[in-house]
Amino acid sequence: MTFDYDLFVIGGGSGGVRAARIAASEGGAKVALAEEFRMGGTCVIRGCVPKKLMVFASGFSQMMEDGKSYGWDIRQNGFDWPKFKTHLETELDRLEAAYRRNAQNAGVTIYDSRAVLKDAHTVVLADGQTVSAKHILIATGGYPFVPDLPGRDLAMTSNEIFLQEELPKSILIVGGGYIACEFACILNGLGVEVTQFYRGAQILNGFDEEVRGHIGESMIDSGVSLSLGCDVMEMEQQDQGIWVKATSGKDRHYDAVLYATGRMPNTTGLGLEDLGVKLGRRGEILVDEWSQTSVPSIYAVGDVTDRINLTPVAIREGHAFADTVFGGKKVKADHTCVPGAVFTQPEYGYVGMTEEEARKDHSIEVYATAFKPMKTAFAGRSDRVLFKLIVDAETRKVLGCHIVAEGAAELIQLAAIAVKMGATKENFDRTVAVHPTIAEELVTMRTPVRTA
Ligand code: NDP
Repeated sequence: MTFDYDLFVIGGGSGGVRAARIAASEGGAKVALAEEFRMGGTCVIRGCVPKKLMVFASGFSQMMEDGKSYGWDIRQNGFDWPKFKTHLETELDRLEAAYRRNAQNAGVTIYDSRAVLKDAHTVVLADGQTVSAKHILIATGGYPFVPDLPGRDLAMTSNEIFLQEELPKSILIVGGGYIACEFACILNGLGVEVTQFYRGAQILNGFDEEVRGHIGESMIDSGVSLSLGCDVMEMEQQDQGIWVKATSGKDRHYDAVLYATGRMPNTTGLGLEDLGVKLGRRGEILVDEWSQTSVPSIYAVGDVTDRINLTPVAIREGHAFADTVFGGKKVKADHTCVPGAVFTQPEYGYVGMTEEEARKDHSIEVYATAFKPMKTAFAGRSDRVLFKLIVDAETRKVLGCHIVAEGAAELIQLAAIAVKMGATKENFDRTVAVHPTIAEELVTMRTPVRTA
């Protein structure tokens, strides 16, 4: 049987583009890719990249304030959102073009169209054209989930936040995960009056408990009005803004409401169920360790599989798929000990286990220190950083490393190499400190604060 292509990829985000490029350039495959929105996917167009640029933009307010303590004569004239937004759009256009060019240079044919499955080897494009391929890769990512409640349509999600013509004066952010906490800090830094509702007892559910408390307190100290154990009952558009009634019984008006209550896999309407592709409870595509679905010619990578929903993981999955199916070498994406960061202010970088996870199966020693770093203490701020190592008391291996500090995302990338290699606490201790830095605490913590 002959096919139009060796590989057809649905979705031009991080995972899909990596798979397409490697299959074409290193595997010699004839590859096509369909993208219905913009090349680059969530990460580049409405996720990590614009978010990180907003983190940078937001950080200047505190930096300028601190600068005064260092002798600088600084007059702040406010933040010009339209100016930043125009610059941001130019940058995103550049990145989108680069994604397109890199795929095309590798020999990938791009269809700017939605594609859905017709059978195990055929897709249908929006104009009705059918295209066949020996293998099909689904890399359609996810979409923001907003719960059903009265006034739901008044809320925006992280998809729309970058598109606002002007910054709201006040905003309610609902949720306590990555996106809610990151945007609470970003918008607070940009001068927006931020209220955050989280239904549970502490933000960042699932992360290390001590870190959660530390970041929650830091966010409150920096001006975020954080209401824990609180959710929205209903919303209504009124003259003064969006009226919100909370489960606490309180109500007030906000200029905008941002829902960051999780993301769902993008599988609706792709024709997967009709073909017998098995889906999980949240609609995620179920795959094996080779990213192969229950239909052998169809594979899936990235957020649509709801494994670890991070860009670098999707890239690894896409690359491993291309190596395995087209590169003649069987490669599995490694989902263990994946480091990550939450871009709150201060940032949080993590790798390995939380203290709570480690306690379940290991006897552990916990080394932790929280202190005011030199840079911000000099500026008269009370911010504290947190360094924490969780060590297996028997093997001495560092099971987890958690850092809350300026630049924690950069620091954890390096610490993650050691943790992934299986470094022991003594390996850390043998490493000479770099002084004066905040990260030297990683190699100078001598006494456990607790054992369990
Ligand atoms: P998360 O899953 O991180 O958080 C969702 C939050 O919404 C949780 O606090 C959850 O509460 C709450 N929630 C869920 N359902 C409801 C509901 N019905 N009513 C009220 N609250 C609700 O999702 P995000 O949207 O923040 O982010 C999605 C994913 O994107 C992340 O999981 C991550 O994989 C990725 N991401 C990664 C980033 C990074 O690497 N820095 C940055 C941004 C996103 P509860 O905990 O009680 O369930």
